[in-house]
Amino acid sequence: MVGLILLFVIVFFFLFYGYHLLVNRKATDSTPEEQTAQCHLCKKEFPISKMVARDKEAGFVNYFCGDCIEKLYADHILLNRNN
Ligand SMILES: [Zn+2]
Repeated sequence: MVGLILLFVIVFFFLFYGYHLLVNRKATDSTPEEQTAQCHLCKKEFPISKMVARDKEAGFVNYFCGDCIEKLYADHILLNRNN
């Protein structure tokens, strides 16, 4: 009988311990949601860390995505080649 009670205590301990491990892992796995911004040209949402920001004198920031910057660069090259 004492063995059975001891077994129950051990089983409950591991269930409790395992549950806490699971909860703690979930808490550390969830990364804070990354802030996004809208590209000033194509109006698509992107993570701010992947965009180029330019401050305007009016006091706000314009963000530009990589695709738009590449298109601008290509247009700029084309313009200078033709003139
Ligand atoms: Zn864009």
